[in-house]
Amino acid sequence: MFGPRLQRARAEMDRQGVDALLLSVGADLPYLTGYSAMPLERLTMLVLPRDGEARLVIPELEAPLVAERDDFTMVPWGETQDPLDLVVGLIGQDATVGIGDTTWARFVVGLVDRAPALVLRNASDVMTPLRAVKSDDEVAMLRSAAAAVDRIAGRLRNGEIPLVGQTEAQVSAELGRQIVEEGHHHVNFAIVAAGANAASPHHHAGDHVITEGEVVLCDFGGTWLDDHGVGYCSDLTRCVYTGDPPSEFVEMYDVLFNAQAASVAAATVGTPAEVVDRAGRSIIADAGYGDYFIHRTGHGIGVEAHEEPYIVEGNTDPLVAGNAFSVEPGIYIPGKWGARIEDIVVSSAEGPDPLNRVDHALARV
Ligand code: ZN
Ligand code: ZN
Ligand code: ZN
Repeated sequence: MFGPRLQRARAEMDRQGVDALLLSVGADLPYLTGYSAMPLERLTMLVLPRDGEARLVIPELEAPLVAERDDFTMVPWGETQDPLDLVVGLIGQDATVGIGDTTWARFVVGLVDRAPALVLRNASDVMTPLRAVKSDDEVAMLRSAAAAVDRIAGRLRNGEIPLVGQTEAQVSAELGRQIVEEGHHHVNFAIVAAGANAASPHHHAGDHVITEGEVVLCDFGGTWLDDHGVGYCSDLTRCVYTGDPPSEFVEMYDVLFNAQAASVAAATVGTPAEVVDRAGRSIIADAGYGDYFIHRTGHGIGVEAHEEPYIVEGNTDPLVAGNAFSVEPGIYIPGKWGARIEDIVVSSAEGPDPLNRVDHALARV
């Protein structure tokens, strides 16, 4: 599996005139090797030259974590060695390199100190075109992860997960427990926002005790591992109402429901990402809630919870088959309440393919 990915990366490097990729912490390294660098002070870095052998510079004490492979050679370094000297030795003094976007600054600065003539580019220039187009196997992983969070949302909707009398933090912990129980490797986040807290899109679940007569917005997801140790993310938002919602809320929710469905329907191959954003946003704006939809419609998803393509005004890139992204409009009335509906959608030749299938209607619990 990794051989073809490395070949595609090399072809892209060739096209862009990049001599080597240097990948440390972040999602590019596991995408290409199945191994994630430990986010510690000791350097782990894949050196992938356009021509020639890939090498993983890795602390000697962490080398046993990496499975033996023919895609790359290990270069373990001991405690008294300088790993950046090793990297410079592999790439030379005057190469054009794509450095992983989330590489720690101390390593980037150290690299430039040792080789001032290096030309640095973002590795994402090379990696984004690869990662943004999912293979069938990758879509299958995203689908498994989506089905798992759908099952949890189903329990949330039919009242099997206790809400009234619980704190947001307790509900968040329960969602997290179920995310793992349903097969994810780990929890990425579990936002639980009740009542007026639902007006804050990234609310941190806190000690607010959920009462009768509140919206409860739950946005949660985790990472699902494939057979090679590469993780794929889930991300789902559903809202439930404890008791009978006031008509004002029901009307607002209906607008959101229609907007979300319109953006999903618009997500066909060839449609610019910003047009997908506009499809739902115009419905929200026409209903008078335009000022309360304060974020983009969605983000790509794959080995990272947020990646390209972004579904946002200004992104004129047309969707291609294999793009996977969230469609998650929201309406947030400060001090009062808020709501968001989110699915992961894959654009395919047969049309938009929503991976999340759990009911979007407002559930009353
Ligand atoms: Zn978000
Ligand atoms: Zn989400
Ligand atoms: Zn999301």
